[in-house]
Amino acid sequence: MRILVVEDEEALALRIKRVLESENYHVEVAFDGDSGVELALTETYDLLILDILLPGLSGIQILKEVRREGLSMPVLLLTSKNRVEDKVAGLDAGADDYLTKPFALPELLARVRSLLRRTSEATSAVLVVGDLEVNTSSHAVIRAGKAIDLTAKEYAILEFLLYNKNRVLSRLSIAEHIWGDNFDLFTMTNFVDVHIKNLRKKLDDGRDKQLIQTVRGVGYIIKDTL
Ligand code: CA
Repeated sequence: MRILVVEDEEALALRIKRVLESENYHVEVAFDGDSGVELALTETYDLLILDILLPGLSGIQILKEVRREGLSMPVLLLTSKNRVEDKVAGLDAGADDYLTKPFALPELLARVRSLLRRTSEATSAVLVVGDLEVNTSSHAVIRAGKAIDLTAKEYAILEFLLYNKNRVLSRLSIAEHIWGDNFDLFTMTNFVDVHIKNLRKKLDDGRDKQLIQTVRGVGYIIKDTL
């Protein structure tokens, strides 16, 4: 699970990072709004934690940009002021929850867990692109009514691409998602290519157009329109 923290109080940002990492989340930190929004829109995260008052774009502006781009990951806002209008503006902009500073780190962890659980329940469903159906509970993969047998790694890559449909995923971000930080990721990107090749063999059998498209020099994408 990858989490982005955008918080300009560096000491607090690093404490949040440490406590989340102790729970095995992969955490990246930005200390201002502009680098925060850039990361949020170019990398793939399962959850965003955004301070509202930031140098550059505010947390609420970042949130609006993220939602405008169609990204639906849960967003937790941090506010230093117990101001009703901040909360209302945040929730209107599509925040899922907020915490008022100062807060205890276990409280933050509890919110993060609950937000991530909510998404995994909400997304435990059938993903459909064209004639492909993927059941994220049973892991059944069906194309044009025909069941396709995938290995666990192939399935994980396909599901990751489908959850990020219409976005290009780099080989590195796929490797990181599948293998975590425990491997030499630059080596693992070669395994990504091998798995993609095998996936294509199974998914595209006898078709002209590839389901998983290569974006040269960048990575892979599954588009809504096949
Ligand atoms: Ca701040």
